[in-house]
Amino acid sequence: MTVSRVSSFQNGGKEHIELLGGKGAHLAEMTKAGLPVPPGFTITTDVCRHYYNNSRQLPSGLRDEIELALAELEKEQNRVFGGTDCPLLVSVRSGSVTSMPGMMDTILNLGLNDATVEGLAQQTNNRRFAYDCYRRLIQMYGSVVYDIEAIHFERVLQEEKQLQQCKDDQQLTEQSLVTLVHKFKRLIEQRTNKSFPQNVREQLQGAIEAVFLSWSSPRAKVYRKVHLIPDDQGTAVNVQAMVFGNRGSNSGTGVLFTRNPSTGEKVLFGEFLMNAQGEDVVGGTRTPIPIAALQDALPEVYAELSSCAAQLEKHYRDIQDIEFTIEDEKLYFLQTRSAKRNARAALKVAVDLVNEGMITKDEALMRIDVQHLNHLLHRSLQATADHVVIATGLPASPGAACGQAVFDADTAEEWKRAGKDVILVRLETTPEDIHGVIAAEGILTLRGGMTSHAAVVARGMGKPCVCGCEVLKIDEEQQQLIANDIVIREGDWLTLDGGSGQVIPGQLELKEADIFPELLLMLEWADQIRSLKVMANADSPLDARKAREFGAEGIGLCRTEHMFLSPMRVPIVQQMILAEKEIDRQVALNRLLPMQRYDFEEMFREMDGFPVTIRLLDPPLHEFLPNVEELTTRLALMRTSESDIHAERAELERMIRRVRELQETNPMLGQRGCRLGIMFPEIYEMQIEAIFQAALRCLCDGVTVQPQVMIPLVGHVNELHLLRKLVDQVAEQVLGHERRNCPYKVGTMIEVPRAALTAGEIARSADFFSFGTNDLTQMTFGYSRDDAEGKFLTHYVENKLLPHNPFQVLDTEGVGKLIEMAVIQGRSRNPLLTTSICGEHGGDVESIMFCQRVGLDYISCSPYRLPVARIAAAQAHIRMQWEMTLQEQAV
Ligand code: PEP
Ligand code: MG
Repeated sequence: MTVSRVSSFQNGGKEHIELLGGKGAHLAEMTKAGLPVPPGFTITTDVCRHYYNNSRQLPSGLRDEIELALAELEKEQNRVFGGTDCPLLVSVRSGSVTSMPGMMDTILNLGLNDATVEGLAQQTNNRRFAYDCYRRLIQMYGSVVYDIEAIHFERVLQEEKQLQQCKDDQQLTEQSLVTLVHKFKRLIEQRTNKSFPQNVREQLQGAIEAVFLSWSSPRAKVYRKVHLIPDDQGTAVNVQAMVFGNRGSNSGTGVLFTRNPSTGEKVLFGEFLMNAQGEDVVGGTRTPIPIAALQDALPEVYAELSSCAAQLEKHYRDIQDIEFTIEDEKLYFLQTRSAKRNARAALKVAVDLVNEGMITKDEALMRIDVQHLNHLLHRSLQATADHVVIATGLPASPGAACGQAVFDADTAEEWKRAGKDVILVRLETTPEDIHGVIAAEGILTLRGGMTSHAAVVARGMGKPCVCGCEVLKIDEEQQQLIANDIVIREGDWLTLDGGSGQVIPGQLELKEADIFPELLLMLEWADQIRSLKVMANADSPLDARKAREFGAEGIGLCRTEHMFLSPMRVPIVQQMILAEKEIDRQVALNRLLPMQRYDFEEMFREMDGFPVTIRLLDPPLHEFLPNVEELTTRLALMRTSESDIHAERAELERMIRRVRELQETNPMLGQRGCRLGIMFPEIYEMQIEAIFQAALRCLCDGVTVQPQVMIPLVGHVNELHLLRKLVDQVAEQVLGHERRNCPYKVGTMIEVPRAALTAGEIARSADFFSFGTNDLTQMTFGYSRDDAEGKFLTHYVENKLLPHNPFQVLDTEGVGKLIEMAVIQGRSRNPLLTTSICGEHGGDVESIMFCQRVGLDYISCSPYRLPVARIAAAQAHIRMQWEMTLQEQAV
């Protein structure tokens, strides 16, 4: 069934939500279900779109259609719109498709003028009531249609209350309300040079247009941006016969939730006010009463309300947020919608509804909002915390953190040792800052994107991180941070919200992560349902343990360069990189080998029975090279000092020269990944040796090991051929006859577009592909992953040149196409090939959906993102199944 652009509540239902908006669709649905709903009609979102697409003109013919609908309403109510005897009054309310509570406008009591108000007074035998309605109409009309700030009306109201010495609005006398009507009318005239319209049809047209216009009010626009609601969705307008909660002590109005939206508990929850209209409950002028008290005040109404609430919950199979009005002890429903609830309540309600047989496990899983889940799994800002945001950067690693600002890694470590919580603020982080990163509660950087060093490392550690916050200025000499004229000095408190990217001065109250039985149960259900495997990006035995705790089915990426990120190991790596002769490099490698072997061994043990994918060294060299300016300063100091030791000076000079030799103009496109392994095979040889020695030790202890050696940054099959041979040779040497018990695999990352384009060739030498979507995105777009976000990418996203930040949400149309192609080509040449993703997109919900669609075998992400990934993988599986069923039904 289709609905016309002016549609009575007798027609349509929840399936027409796109056109009728939430409120209109559910009013129609409730009418159909036989609930007491005041009659009315909805003007569809199509009309709203027409209004905006045609220089804010309503479509021709609409007026006649509204007239017809009004005539029906008049007949049904036995009243006349604009009639003086028995006037019909209506409310005019917005109704967007996606709920936007409080963001748009409402006008009540429309249809009153100087004549009809007297008619209402006579009909109800209550002149005070009639004038109360009239003053409310003029007040709302003035604010909504004429854009007069509400405070001006409030001021006049307060003056009258003071004059009459009354506390509450209901204490105002009939005479006071008549006075207020005059004063409000004058206020409108003074501020707009227009009169409050006495023609009720003019009132209606003004109200309808005002509701459409409120779709583009600044607050509605901001809300849509935050909640990703498309601008062209538009709002519907609902015109509904008025019922009056302000008609006396047996009338009232309220809001009811079918369950507690904060805890999920199955009890009616809400509040009401007697002798009041809707805006009194939400406006805060009077304190509403808990809903349970209605049982004493009007027991029969309460019983009816409870039973209808249960009926609505059952009908919608979800917790409902209901608006009701009682007019002279008669109950009416004005709205029902799925209740907004907090993360904890959402999970409890979903699990309870499954247990009550109302929904299936699949539906329960599909109802989880994974952004909500992030709040539960990490520390967050207390909802009540009032705060000033001085800057917003990239939400690089979720969770909130609070600490004293420090501007270098050494101080961070020192202060942490002294028992202080610190936030490390840096222009950007490098491996040399790692001890500071470890010590800090959270990290804030001015440069770097979602896949920059700070972001990747912080995510791996589950630490809140805001990066690429280029609006901030750091004065490193003065050790201070400046934003919006606010100066944060060393030691000043700073709070970060890594989920939203907000930087907040001061020490805010934080809420701890909240892992409770319903969440664990949901994760269990997700594991039963999903088909994508979920592995972890883990670089240490500790990470591996965490990964298992969070449900990883193996390690999908161990970035071996991260294993060197400790103050003890970084200098040895630098020694290895800066060595000029193989023999010198071998000295450093000999020191690194036992360290690597130990780590691998412990990781294999943690992952007993599960695959461990170890990526051979891929250090962007610039991240590991010592800082040349620091070396030069040290040299200068040495030259001026008395104790000028010749050998030390010579070594420093050599290091500076070597760093300069190794420096590259485009390090991310330079001597990285397998290129380094090919130029310096002894490095990879050491790593392979360490892997298989570790495997051998584990085998001796009965641990089941499944090493997967991964070659990074392959662009040409010959690179893989060469290095695969090296892996096999070293494995043979180390494992000897134990090779049979150690079924290892050799595979490659696909992160260079050429590798994706020639995947068929490459698959012949690879047991697995893992898509490194950080680099693949960098190289497909040609956007530097370290710089783009801070320079232009955020602007692109804000101005809708791109739908998302492609380093955060996979670009399915471009990068995705390469992946899809590589999977098809790869599998056609090697049917046993396994495929996965290990870039940061592996923890992103939308990207996981894409992975499911192209049939990857598993995703890999940092341990702290695993719960979200497990749920997202289940959601992706369910969505695909639903889509397939729909397709089958269509055929
Ligand atoms: C990638 O490029 O997606 C990847 C996982 O490797 P890295 O982030 O270490 O470059
Ligand atoms: Mg990479």
